[in-house]
Formats: sequence, C-alpha cells, structure tokens
Amino acid sequence: MIAGIDLGTTNSLIGVFESGFPMLLADTEGRRLIPSVVLYPENGIPLIGREALRMQSLHPECTVASVKRFMGRRFGEEGTEHLQGTKGIPVTLPINGIDLTPEEVSSEILKKLKSVAEERLGTTVDRAVITVPAYFNDAQRAATRMAGELAGFTVERILSEPTAAALAYGLDKLSDRSKVAVYDLGGGTFDLSVLQLDNGVFQVLSTHGDTHLGGDDLDEAIARRLLREADIETLTPEMKVRLKEAARTAKELLSSEDSTVVLLPFMEGSQSLEIPLTRAQIEEVCEPIIQRTRALCLRALADAGVQAEQLDQLILVGGSTRMPLVQKLTSEIFGKQPNLSQHPDEAVALGAVLQAAILEGNLQNVALLDVTPLSLGIETFGGLMNVIIPRNTTIPAKAGEMFTNAVAGQSGMKIIVLQGERELASDNWMLGSFEIPFPPSQKGAARVGVQFSIDADGILQVLARDTSAGIEKIVEIKSAVEVSDEAVEAMLAGSLEHAFEDMDARIFTEARLKAEEMLPAVEAALDQLGSELPESEVLDIRQQSSEVEAALKSKETTRLKQALAVLDNATQTLATKLLEKAMG
Ligand code: AMP
Repeated sequence: MIAGIDLGTTNSLIGVFESGFPMLLADTEGRRLIPSVVLYPENGIPLIGREALRMQSLHPECTVASVKRFMGRRFGEEGTEHLQGTKGIPVTLPINGIDLTPEEVSSEILKKLKSVAEERLGTTVDRAVITVPAYFNDAQRAATRMAGELAGFTVERILSEPTAAALAYGLDKLSDRSKVAVYDLGGGTFDLSVLQLDNGVFQVLSTHGDTHLGGDDLDEAIARRLLREADIETLTPEMKVRLKEAARTAKELLSSEDSTVVLLPFMEGSQSLEIPLTRAQIEEVCEPIIQRTRALCLRALADAGVQAEQLDQLILVGGSTRMPLVQKLTSEIFGKQPNLSQHPDEAVALGAVLQAAILEGNLQNVALLDVTPLSLGIETFGGLMNVIIPRNTTIPAKAGEMFTNAVAGQSGMKIIVLQGERELASDNWMLGSFEIPFPPSQKGAARVGVQFSIDADGILQVLARDTSAGIEKIVEIKSAVEVSDEAVEAMLAGSLEHAFEDMDARIFTEARLKAEEMLPAVEAALDQLGSELPESEVLDIRQQSSEVEAALKSKETTRLKQALAVLDNATQTLATKLLEKAMG
C-alpha cells in the first residue's frame, strides 16, 4: 500500500486510498493534523507532534519546529542566517550536543505518520508519495526523499504541493490547457503557483512566494495588539509564548465567529486578563500582512504569462486561507471567487493520496471522473446482484460473464441490468431489462454470454447472446455514469450500513438455491436406489431432508447451512452408487 504524505512546515498528514476512497488517517486521539515538531529529551526517545508542541515552551533548546525550512540547505543560504555553522556545508542542528541533519529530524515526523497509519490500518505501510513546495530545488527534494527512506519508506514519488492540491480539487478533469492558480498560505510560508493542464498532467508554469509569511506572522500581530490592550510593560519568554498561543486560538475562532474574549489567567503576577476581541479588529491588524501576498501573486501571473481573467480556477490551500479576509482579498486580486470545496489544510495530503492510488493502479487514469461511480451488474436467479463491472472501474471498460438456465425447459432469460453496491438485486437500482430467448433445454445446458461495455462518454451497452442459436440482443443505457454525488453517497452508506444483513441474505440465498436443487435430486435418487441401501440409512436421509426443508422455512442461515452439510454427508453412499450406475 502506498501512503500519501503532506510533510508540512507546521503540520503533516498521512492518508491512503482504501476501498475506493482517499482517506486521511487520524491518530488515537482522532486528530489528522500532526504538528511537525520534534522534541529530543536528553535521554529517551523523541517526542513528536502534539506532545512535542505542548512541551516546546518548556524545552525550547531541544525542540525542532519548522525543520522543513532547512531541508537540503547549506549554511549561509537563504533562511539559515540565524544558524551557526561554516558557510557552504550542509545545515545541521545542534541538539543535546549532537549535530542532527534536517533529514533525520524530518524522518522522526515521517516515522510518527507511518506509525499512525500502521496502527489505524493494522498492516505495514512502507511506500509513500511525499509532497514538497513547487519551488524546492533538487537538493531539497533529495533531502525529502532521504528523510522518507530514513523513516523506512520506499519513496515512490516526490510531488509538488500545488499539483497535489489541484488533484484533490479534481481539477485534472478540466479541459486540456486549463489554467489554475493555487494560493497556499500556511503557518509559516506563502506561495502562489500557476499550473496548466497538458494532456492530463499539471505543469507548474510559475511559482512565487515568501518563506517567512504565514499564520505565525498573523499570530504575532494579534499578540502585539492584545499586549497593547493589556497594558503590560515587560513580558517573560513564557508569557510571550502564552500570549501568542492565545492570539492564535482567537484568530482561528474568529474565522467563524464575529467576536470572542481572550482569557489569560494569571498573566502578570496574580492578575488575570480578559480581553474582548472582534473579527474586525483582527482583520485590521492582519490585512497589511495578507496584502503582502498581492505583489507575489501578480509576479507569478506575469512570469507565467497569464492574465488573471484567463484562469479557470483559483484554489486556496493552507490553514490560514480559512480566514474570511484571505478569501475576500484573493477574490479581489484574481477577480474571481475561490473554489472552497475542499478543506484547505487537507487538500495537499488528499492529492498525495490520489497520486499514490494512481501509482498503485487503483485509479488507472488521472482523469478521476472517468470511473464508474457504482457497480454495474445483472440480477441472477435467486434475486442476487451479480457484479460485472465493479465500482470505480476506469472507463471505457468492457467485461462479461457466461450464464445458464437454472430451470429445465426454460425458453429464455430475463436480463435485468442493475447498478449499486447491495447484495440483493431488489436493493439496487434497475437501469433496464430485456429478454433473450433460447431453445428449451435441460437445466444448465443453455449458454448465454452477457457483456457490458461502457464507452468514454459513460454510455453502457449490454449485449446478451445465446451461443447455441446465435441470437443476440443489445440494449443501450445512458445513465450508467451520470449519477449524482448524493445518490452515490446514499448507496454507499446503505451498503455499509447493511453489509452484515446483506452478506447474510446472500449466503442464505445461495444455500436456498442449493437446497432447492438438492432436495428433489435426493428424492429421485432414493426412488431409484433406495432399495439398495440399509433401511436405517434411508430413514436417516429422509430425516435430514426434512430438516433441510424445515430450515428453509425458518429462514435461518446457519441452520440451513448446517442441515445441508449433514444431508450432504448422509447421502455420500447414495451419491457414489448413483455415480457407479451412471458409469455403467
Ligand atoms: P498549515 O501550515 O496549512 O497547517 O496552516 C497552519 C496555519 O493555519 C496556522 O497558522 C493556523 O493558525 C492557521 N489556521 C488553521 N485554522 C484556521 C482558521 N480556522 N482560521 C484562521 N487560520 C487558521
């Protein structure tokens, strides 16, 4: 199984493609965003994620956050100014007297994600697609790959974040040469990428950003504002951290509320603080910071040679784009409403999962729309669903199966075309039906081939051919792919909800068909050969036959299966005698 991983500056996520769905996996506390923070205790194993984040303010000297900034970097390069080391050599971070490489630190985060996935899935997960910013150079990509390998993954692909996001939004379904802008404002970084779709593959036309512009800056600006209100002269480092945390909590809350009250118990000596804060107030302090993205957007557009009007879509990625102000400013910059259909902080991970599924062959085609939304099949004797083209098959697709008559003397077969995920035909949707005639014959002698083919436009053709007489019929069904999302969801929910009953119904039906076949056969054999068996054995067979009949009436699956097994056993000698007789 290949996992998709968003290895972010602030938070990381992991997901897999399972049972036809991309799924992001949560830790045991139900959280999917794992903070990209590693804390190295002086002795003992590193703490990773939320635990490390919680302890960070107590042990800043042995905690590494935002290690992504140093991936593949050398001392003296951009972003390493505050680090001490010989210019030109690869960056290392001194922790507890040991120089750690950014790859090693990142690999701890990746190991944590790996264990979250393995715990949730109960299997090993050792292959991965990992995302990186579009602007990452070869050294930064190689360092990310190395981190993946150190964590025990085979890294199947390094994928650009904006491309992953576009995949998650399903933008690969746009027509060829469509252009998309991906505006990514996270915790610590901003970038804007312009993509173009060429033959189903995204090309990054340009990317521009600022590796020190993000939600952290907003938190600091809000914290300064709170400080002004609070009228505190000097702050201890610990108070500073608490103030910034409070600012962040308030900021996130004010994305959905108009006002809040920031509570800071015992901030200064024994004095607690209670500061009311409104969305309008934080927007005032955040606006100048978010406005800094405008020039970068315009530059990226200019580099790509694309006018804002030529963009087919604008998508927002990164937790900070949840702010209504960001949504407002971006629609001003680009002159169009952003597409808000995905969670901005999960889109990159989701895209990585989809890319993993494509590599695994679970999504054969990048064109995600071009799959059957639900299984297609026909109703079989006994009222069961016989799937011919499973759900999520890439179209065009063709598949077939051979059927026979279940009853002697039958002179035709009714083909009922079904769509859905339920075991019983009657719980699925009927798309159409028709009759195929064939000459009456013994049970099991007719041969009817049924073939389903769906073309690239989603039109289903069902062909049924009686191979003996060569009679064939074709019907065309147009609605096989065009099913509303709600209908698909309802069907899938139903199939999950009723999975156990459905399975029971299928097993019972199969047992019933076997019983209905076996009872008359045993009766006929007894008539013919009963006299050659000891009386007690005949009596036993008759007794077991009546138990099968009773079990049939009771509709109890287990009882019927047991009764059939006992009857099967009781008729061993009879069956052998029958066979001997038949062979002469
Ligand atoms: P990311 O790097 O994409 O995980 O984004 C993290 C940033 O998103 C942090 O600065 C968070 O404070 C910010 N963020 C998360 N949720 C919200 C929200 N509801 N409103 C505003 N900012 C948010």
